This record gives sequence, C-alpha cells and structure tokens, in this order.
Amino acid sequence: MAVIRLAIAGLGKIARDQHIEAIAGTPGIELVAVASRHASIEGIPHFATLDELLAAGPDIDAVALCMPPQVRHAPAASALKAGKHVLLEKPPGATVAELTPLISAARQSGKTLFATWHSRFAPGVEPARTFLADRQIKSVIVEWKEDVRVWHPGQAWIWEPGGFGVFDPGINALSILTRILPRPFFLKAAELSFPSNRAAPIAADLVFSDATDLSIRAEFDFRQTGAQTWVIRVDTDGGLLTLSSGGSRLDRDGRSLVHEEPAEYRGIYRRFVELIANGVSDVDLSPLVHVADAFLLGRRREVEPFEDD
Ligand code: NAP
Repeated sequence: MAVIRLAIAGLGKIARDQHIEAIAGTPGIELVAVASRHASIEGIPHFATLDELLAAGPDIDAVALCMPPQVRHAPAASALKAGKHVLLEKPPGATVAELTPLISAARQSGKTLFATWHSRFAPGVEPARTFLADRQIKSVIVEWKEDVRVWHPGQAWIWEPGGFGVFDPGINALSILTRILPRPFFLKAAELSFPSNRAAPIAADLVFSDATDLSIRAEFDFRQTGAQTWVIRVDTDGGLLTLSSGGSRLDRDGRSLVHEEPAEYRGIYRRFVELIANGVSDVDLSPLVHVADAFLLGRRREVEPFEDD
C-alpha cells in the first residue's frame, strides 16, 4: 500500500509533544503538510487553515486534527467532504451529537474516521482487560489528579464551555475504564467543583455502578501539586489490580506485571494505518457519554477562583 500522506491541523502542545515523533516512527504514514494559524515546521508546506490547505496544498490522504475540541467539528467535516481520512484527538468533540454527521460522512465516502483515546494504548491496559475479563470484580477506585498549570499552561480553552476542565484528563481514565471493565457502567451521582471565575470544573467526584451493583468511584482533580496521580485500583477475586502512571504500570497485589515506557501515540498511528488499510472507522463515544452524563447529573458547587499564573 502507498504511504499515507498526512497533514496535521492545529500545531500546538500535543502535536509537538507527541504526534510529530509518532508519525516519523510509524511505517506507512508521513507528514507532508501543516495547517495552523500561528505555527509551522521548517521544510513542511504550511497553510493558515485546513480549508486553505485542502484548496491549494500538496495532495494529502489524511488529516490529524489536534486543535481543541470546540473547534474540531468544522475541519473534520471539511476533510471528510474532501475525501480525506480523519484522526481526531481526544475528546472527539465538544458535544456527543456532533459526531453523528461525521460518522455518516465517513461511511458515505468510504473513508476512515478514528476517534483516538491515547490512554488506551498505554502498555498495561490490554493486559488489565484480559485479566478482568473473567474475574469477579468487587470494587473500582479511580484517582486522576494532576497539576493543570504543568499540563495545560495558559490554555484558556480548557476553562471555556466545551473545554471539559478537569474532564480533559479525566476522560482519559474513563477511556481506560470503558476498555478494561467487562460490563457497561453508568453514572449514579456526581459533584462538580467550578471555580467562581471559570465555566468548566476544576474537580469532580463521580459514583458509577453497573448491572451487578458494582461500586465504581472516581476522583478527578486539577489542583494536584508535586507527585501526580493517575491510578485505577480494581479489587477482584484474583487480587488487587493496580493500573498506575496513566496505564504504563500494572501490578497485582503489589507484584509488577507490566512496567514499560509508554508509546501511546505510536500505537495510535499504527492503528490509524491499519484502519485505513482495512477501510474501516473506529469511533467509540462511550468515554464522552460518561462526561456528558456528569454534566447532566452532576451537582455543581462553586469553589475559589482559579488564576492561571
Ligand atoms: P493547544 O496547544 O492549546 O492547541 C493546539 C493548537 O490548536 C493551537 O496551537 C492552535 O494552533 C490551535 N487552536 C487553538 N485554539 C484554537 C481555536 N480557537 N481555533 C482554531 N485553532 C485553535 O492544545 P493541546 O494541548 O495541543 O490540546 C489539543 C487537543 O489535544 C485537546 O483536545 C487535548 O485534550 C488533546 N491532548 C492534549 C494533551 C496535552 O498534554 N496537552 C495530551 C493528550 C491530548 P494555531 O493557533 O497555530 O492555529
């Protein structure tokens, strides 16, 4: 199969931190153009917007959309209309329903739409899923606590409507949970803490359950300083399974099963190449549905203002 000619749209933090290196390290795909208003890469054709690139740029087969979720739908629709394969950074949209026309457009044009969940490519996730497939699960506890000033310095969009606030990292935990737990689960109660000067939550406490009354509790917090915490603990009849460091470590009863450097974005691009080769899409909206439910059901409380200094 010919090498897939890819453009990145929205050359910001995640594109620079992860996508460029992962594309370079993945056989079958190459970066041939960039669409970004304020950023470019030396030696790569550059356009301010994706529409300009589609109209006047070099031939491309696919686009990776790395801008914030609030502004991702229109470029995704344009790219699919132009007959390109589309990779969406997470979360795939600012609403659940905006994905429906994109899914239809991909189906009609026979192109691949890939809603990525990078945390699902962490090395402990698939072994955890396999371990849990036939276990009796007693309880699940999630702690996803990080310092927003470290991971999202100066990113105003994250505090705007559709920016998700603490659910921007929290949805990563939900993308893992929806992958490793053997049954669907659903929200029972939630408390969302909104800084008095912001439109998105800085913390969230969530209580989920499933058809077997399993207790699943999750705490997301953007105010963590010092050591960061991205842990999922699953108590089972086969021991306590702990997925930590965002999914790159897996332990059972304190004994290490997996401890590897994460290469999540290489996993994403390998999968994108495979999906395109097989002529299929991969759009699992279940993590986004849980976040939407939290905004529907969550009790809101106001907390002290957040200043991004
Ligand atoms: P970012 O750096 O703030 O934004 C990426 C780029 O998108 C910006 O450099 C900007 O490029 C473009 N952009 C920003 N606001 C825009 C707007 N209103 N209209 C059009 N373009 C706009 O954000 P990021 O951290 O890379 O995150 C982008 C996405 O990746 C988010 O959905 C996030 O959840 C996901 N993600 C981020 C991380 C992380 O560690 N930061 C990790 C995993 C996933 P131009 O101004 O040049 O157009």
